[in-house]
Amino acid sequence: MTAQIIDGNALSRQLRTDVAARTAALKARGVTPGLAVILVGEDPASAVYVRNKVRACGETGIHSVFEKYDVALSEADLLARIEALNADPSIHGILVQMPLPKHIHPQRVIETISTAKDVDGYSVQSAGDLMAGLAGFRPCTPYGCMKLIETTGIDLKGKHAVVIGRSNTVGKPMALLLLQANATVTICHSGTPDIGAFTRQADVVVAAVGRRNVLTADMVKPGAVVIDVGMNRNDEGKLCGDVDFDGVKEVAGHITPVPGGVGPMTITMLMVNTLESAERA
Ligand code: NAP
Repeated sequence: MTAQIIDGNALSRQLRTDVAARTAALKARGVTPGLAVILVGEDPASAVYVRNKVRACGETGIHSVFEKYDVALSEADLLARIEALNADPSIHGILVQMPLPKHIHPQRVIETISTAKDVDGYSVQSAGDLMAGLAGFRPCTPYGCMKLIETTGIDLKGKHAVVIGRSNTVGKPMALLLLQANATVTICHSGTPDIGAFTRQADVVVAAVGRRNVLTADMVKPGAVVIDVGMNRNDEGKLCGDVDFDGVKEVAGHITPVPGGVGPMTITMLMVNTLESAERA
């Protein structure tokens, strides 16, 4: 069997077109969705991520405010800036690009962002809302993975989903979203002795580790949906995921490529969350 490729670029374009239309409708009613993006320091990867987020705002008609600060910015000054953006009615989402310089406590920064503007969904309140099944912002990467799974048309009810990785930003919220969709969920991590024993039973596998070849063909049930969140470099320096794509695509029913799978969806879901924040406001 050769798996169907789940095209994250195509889905992303479709969702961004929808965001652009809804943004235009909101503007016609006098509200322009606004996203503030804050970058502290000179991390080159962060600079690329931030640029892509600002560009996506431009494409969808969302107003963006980009603030770049010197690496020496104090935590107190950053928190004060966030408080000002919390009070600014033209801003509906606030994103502080991680990682932050060592002298700034990331969770303190995240908790300072008003829950109503926490479009990354990283605050304890947003995590609690997800856990309790309440409305709130879902972290963009797992939210995007759910949209990718939806395109397969497979009903998750009663299916076994295995998430590899348990970070607060990807693995754990991913597991909760799958649970909310009535899947039976298993979470594997670095302390799981035989991950294949779990993934071989799985109808859906989400790999979110940050290590190449975490999932190989012999670990996959024929016909399974495989979502690859990982972003790694292969020996030639090319972007690759956690999944051995060439092998697994011969066994899986559906699979996301890297690049072109989860990656574009993360920024798209940030646009969706910002728009929905403005719609709520
Ligand atoms: P993270 O915070 O480093 O978490 C990685 C998780 O993988 C941890 O829970 C860790 O387990 C687990 N792990 C490590 N080695 C393992 C192994 N050998 N077997 C099983 N589990 C193992 O990373 P993250 O932020 O969740 O990101 C994961 C990957 O997704 C990275 O490659 C990242 O770049 C990528 N990512 C991509 C996007 C995108 O938009 N495409 C967005 C976010 C992240 P322990 O908890 O036991 O240590």
